Amino acid sequence: MRKKLAAGNWKMNGLSEALSELSGMEEAAKGDAEVLICPPATLVAAAAGAASGIAIGGQDCHAAASGAHTGDISATMLKDVGASYVILGHSERRTDHDEHDEDVRAKCAAAWEAGLSVVLCVGESLDEREASNTLDIIGGQLAGSIPDGATGHNLVVAYEPIWAIGTGKVPTNDQIGEVHDFMRARLEKRFGEGVGRSVRLLYGGSVKPGNASEIFAVSNVDGALVGGASLKASDFVPIIEALN
Ligand code: 13P
Repeated sequence: MRKKLAAGNWKMNGLSEALSELSGMEEAAKGDAEVLICPPATLVAAAAGAASGIAIGGQDCHAAASGAHTGDISATMLKDVGASYVILGHSERRTDHDEHDEDVRAKCAAAWEAGLSVVLCVGESLDEREASNTLDIIGGQLAGSIPDGATGHNLVVAYEPIWAIGTGKVPTNDQIGEVHDFMRARLEKRFGEGVGRSVRLLYGGSVKPGNASEIFAVSNVDGALVGGASLKASDFVPIIEALN
C-alpha cells in the first residue's frame, strides 16, 4: 500500500514570516497522508525546526557533496539541516538552468548518497503533447534522469505537464491516467514489480482545493506536487484533506 503524499513546492516564494503557514498545516498532517513542504533554501533549516509532522525538502541540490561551487547547495547540506527530500529535475530548473537528464541523474545519485528521498519531476511541453510525443518524452526523462538503485523509499516521481504549471489548465483525467499508468509500467519494467509498484507517483500542475479530489481519484495518482496552492495553509489543507 503506497502512502499518499501531499507535497508543496514553494519555489522562489516566502520570507521568514511564511513559516507561520506551517503551523496551520500541522493538524491536517496528522492524517493518513504524508505532508512535505519544499521551501526556498533560505528557509529549509528553520522550516525543519518549525513544523512537527511535516517533512521538509529542498528544491534542488548540486551533484557534488562539497567543493568550489559558489552559490550552490549540496544534498548533504540539506540533510544536515533537517531536510528529508529534495525536488530534482523540475521543468523550471531544466529551463532556467539548462538542466538535462544526465544532470538530474547525477544530482539524484548525490541525493541518495546523502540519504535524501528524491521527488523527480518529468513532463512534456504543449508542443510535445500536440505532436503526440508525450509518452516518448516521459519515457526518455524517466530512463535518463533516474540512476540505478531506485526504491519505493528513495524515489517519488511527479508528472508535471509544463503547460499545466501555473496556468490553471489541467489535463483531463484520462490524460493524467494514461501518463501515470505508463510511468508505473516503465518503473516496474526497469526496477522490478515490487519496487515499481511501491514508488509514489504525484500529479503536479494547477492543483487547487477545487480539483484535487477529482485528480486523486485517477488510477496511479498517489498525491500531488502543488505550487501556488501550497503557499497558504487555507489552500493546502483542503488538498491534504482530499488525500486523508
Ligand atoms: P502550480 O501548482 O502553481 O501550477 O505549480 C506546480 C508545480 O510546478 C509544482 O512543482
